[in-house]
Amino acid sequence: MSVEFPSLSRFRQAKYTGKNRCLPCTIVNIIISIFLTSIVVIFGYIVIKPVISFVCGGCVLILSLLSIYLRGYLVPGTPELTKRYFPPWLLTIFNKEQKITETETKTNPEPILVAAGALDECNNGTDLCITADFSDDWQTEIDKMKKSGGESQLLDFFNVEDGNVEYSERDEMFVARVDGTIIGLWDSKVAFFADLGAVQVLSDRISNWSGFETNEQRQLLSGLRLFAETCPSCSGTLDFRTKSIESCCSTYQIAVVLCNECGAQLFKSNINKI
Ligand SMILES: [Zn+2]
Repeated sequence: MSVEFPSLSRFRQAKYTGKNRCLPCTIVNIIISIFLTSIVVIFGYIVIKPVISFVCGGCVLILSLLSIYLRGYLVPGTPELTKRYFPPWLLTIFNKEQKITETETKTNPEPILVAAGALDECNNGTDLCITADFSDDWQTEIDKMKKSGGESQLLDFFNVEDGNVEYSERDEMFVARVDGTIIGLWDSKVAFFADLGAVQVLSDRISNWSGFETNEQRQLLSGLRLFAETCPSCSGTLDFRTKSIESCCSTYQIAVVLCNECGAQLFKSNINKI
């Protein structure tokens, strides 16, 4: 829960506060505030009177915290410093959504998808391509999901008996909630429908489908999306490219599969994970 002070809100720097607040920057700056306050109190205690040292220390702490609340940081340029010097593993700790969507498993999707008849050697014989048969079945299921909304399939996929399903989109993510709790995140709405559609086809073709952990199933599903040849939303052509993402306290490169017609983002991954 965030506390709002209406009279101070006009001084707020929206770029670094509210939903744009950089948590690592805030923590670093609070630590700096406590450090500065300690120096003032210790120095005042030794040189002046103890009472005055505590008053001065209290003022420094209040002003520092006020600056962090209104501007997002105390030391100017902290977000840039965080981007440059914080190691990726430390930033990942604060990026909960990235942790949920990028759960790693030891499953290699390609042999499993080949055995399921979803992938086969391309005509040029040098790579793997999606089979026409699987592609048709997949698109049929995607169209069904788009019509129905996919609520019951979502509950089945996560082994939830019943619940109120809600969808939302934020920060380039498609979010599925059951009874108000986030149950799954996808790269986009089209990725969500593509995965739920693929579940229906793969579960028929892979005899031990239910024996895979949910994380392994999700890896198979996102791996399959990489092989899609047309956009599940508008049948447009797909393009594989890289782009830079600027967040509050980091800049990183991602690889994406985008539709050239409607702009739908079918696949997304940190570039160092490809
Ligand atoms: Zn499209």
